[in-house]
Amino acid sequence: MDENCIFCKIAGKEIPSNIVYENDYVCAFYDLHPVTPVHVLVIPKIHIQDLEHVDESNSKYVEQVQLAFKEVAKIVGVDKTGYRVICNCGEDAGQEVKHLHYHMLGGKKLGTKIVHE
Ligand code: 5GP
Ligand code: ZN
Repeated sequence: MDENCIFCKIAGKEIPSNIVYENDYVCAFYDLHPVTPVHVLVIPKIHIQDLEHVDESNSKYVEQVQLAFKEVAKIVGVDKTGYRVICNCGEDAGQEVKHLHYHMLGGKKLGTKIVHE
């Protein structure tokens, strides 16, 4: 865990958040500034900066994140209607929080464009 990382603090319950799902490896909570009716962040419960820092030593956590999406989708009610998962990595993607996280977006039709010029 990184003591200066806001998402480590959320996963460790040091600061409050609206957690919707968690297990030993994964924590999912509502985004503070939702951009869709359903906007959940899914994170590993270990500090990984971004996708460039995934390796054999932490990939179990990333695997568990992949497995968690459908559980989270069921809980927040988008398993039948669908959702989009986005993971920003690095500067060009505009990653603000330097702890690997996946945005789950849903609750409305999202359109076909995933990149806005
Ligand atoms: P990024 O741009 O790094 O992919 O996305 C970071 C996301 O984290 C943003 O959507 C932002 O609203 C969310 N966020 C930042 N700080 C907090 C926080 O303290 N609590 C919650 N729940 N979300 C946060
Ligand atoms: Zn962290």
